[in-house]
Amino acid sequence: MTDCIFCKIANGEIPSDFVYSDENFVAFRDLNPQAPVHILVIPKKHYASSAAVDDPSVWSGLMSAAVKIACEFGLEERGYRMVINTGEQGGQSVPHLHLHLLAGRNLGWPPG
Ligand code: AMP
Repeated sequence: MTDCIFCKIANGEIPSDFVYSDENFVAFRDLNPQAPVHILVIPKKHYASSAAVDDPSVWSGLMSAAVKIACEFGLEERGYRMVINTGEQGGQSVPHLHLHLLAGRNLGWPPG
């Protein structure tokens, strides 16, 4: 997608604070962090949302990357949260599938 901001981040057109990259996924720090650690993990391939994913390997790859990053950041002991907002009521603002990895403070439940 030529006008997708996360596609542009994934292909290096827009600079970002990358923390992870592999063949199919990248992760970078959220511009507007909601916790001391707030990382976005995205597939390089464009999917408008979780509902658009037609390949189950996207899920295994996305989750594996997120857990790997969490462990690399040493978050497994104190804990972390993974969130995928989907659609308007789900609070999705960027129409490219992304997983939020949040940590570093006590996260409330239920979410707002
Ligand atoms: P969501 O509301 O679930 O769609 O999350 C989109 C997230 O993308 C928000 O937390 C934004 O702060 C973040 N965001 C938007 N633009 C950028 C950017 N250029 N670099 C990093 N994070 C961004």
